[in-house]
Amino acid sequence: MKAVVFYGPNDLRYEEVPTPRPERGELLVRIDAALTCGTDVKTARRGHPVMIPRVPTVFGHELAGTVVAAGEGARGFQEGDRVVAANSAPCGQCPLCRAGRSNLCEDLLFVNGAYGEYIALPPRLVEKNVVRLAQGTPAARAAFAEPLACALLGVERGRIESGQTVAVFGHGPVGCLIAMVAAARKARVLLLGKRGWRLDRVRKLGVAEAVDVLDLPDVADGVRQLTGGRGADVTVDATGRPEVWEQAMAAAGKGGTVVFFGGCPPGTTVRLDTRRAHYEELTLVGAFHHTPEAIRRAIELLESEMVVPDGLITHRTGLPSVREALELMSRGQALKILVDPRHDAILGEIALP
Ligand SMILES: [Zn+2]
Ligand SMILES: [Zn+2]
Repeated sequence: MKAVVFYGPNDLRYEEVPTPRPERGELLVRIDAALTCGTDVKTARRGHPVMIPRVPTVFGHELAGTVVAAGEGARGFQEGDRVVAANSAPCGQCPLCRAGRSNLCEDLLFVNGAYGEYIALPPRLVEKNVVRLAQGTPAARAAFAEPLACALLGVERGRIESGQTVAVFGHGPVGCLIAMVAAARKARVLLLGKRGWRLDRVRKLGVAEAVDVLDLPDVADGVRQLTGGRGADVTVDATGRPEVWEQAMAAAGKGGTVVFFGGCPPGTTVRLDTRRAHYEELTLVGAFHHTPEAIRRAIELLESEMVVPDGLITHRTGLPSVREALELMSRGQALKILVDPRHDAILGEIALP
C-alpha cells in the first residue's frame, strides 16, 4: 500500500509499504478520510517521544474508515463496519484511569498511521477506542472525532454552560472546535485571533464573534469592554503560548475559570496575579488529550449535527502531497486538510460549503 512514513524530524517519505495483516485481536481498517492536525506539523519538525516512540512509522492520527478484516478474537466488529479510531487507548488499570482520568493514563498507548491506505488497529485500541459510525455520517466529518474530543474535554474542564461568556484565544482548528462546542452549549463565544485569511474564514463560518486582537491595544481590556466590564466567565488558551496564557488569566472575570488547553514549549513559565487568583477566586485548569468517553460524546455531537465542523476543512489532498499540505498548515494558510488516501488528488482548496 501507499503511505506517508515518518523517519525522523524533517524526514517524511511517501512510499510503498507492506499492507498490514491483522494479528490476534486487531482490526484492519481501510482509511476513508484522514485530517491534518497542528500536532502533525510540530511532530514532523521535531519528532514526538510520546506519540511516536518508534520510527519509521506511518504518520497521521485523525481518521475514519471501514473494517476490511478482523484478526482472530477481535470482538464487536465485522467486515464493512464504518468506524472511527482514536489515536490512543488508556490502560484502564492505573490509578488515574481508575479515578476516571484516563486522558492522563500512565501507560497511554498511542497509535499512528492515518496517512496510509490501511491501518491495523491494535487490540487495546479495538477494545477501548474504536467506535462504529451511523449509516449516513460522512467519513471526513467523522474524522473530526479525535480533535473534537480534545475540544470537548477542554469545554468540560471549563464547565462551560449556557448563558456564559467564553473567550477562546487562538483561531486555529482546535480553537474553532472549542468555540463550536461552547456555542452548542449556548454560551456566547468570542474567538480571538490575528487578522488574515484564517480569521476571515472563521468569521464567514459564523462560528463565534471573531475578534481581531490587533484591533485591541490591550487584549484583556478589550475582552472586558466586550463583556460589560466584567471579563469572561471562562477563558481558554488554544495557542500554547505563555504570553497568551497570561492574557487568558487577565481576561477572566471575577470568579472566572481559565482553561490551559494549548501546550507551551517545555521549560516556559507564566506570571500569576496572586491577588486576583485569591480574592477573585480564579479557577485555573489544564486540559489535555481525551478519554474514551469524550470520543463517544464527540461522535454523538457530530452525528446529531450539534457540531458541524465541515467548514474547517479548507483543502483536500491525496497521499503524495501530504508533505506539501503540512507545509501549508505550518504557514498558517490552512485550517484542516482532508487527506483522501484513495485519490491521488493534488493539494487543492475547498470552497466554503
Ligand atoms: Zn490531532
Ligand atoms: Zn491507565
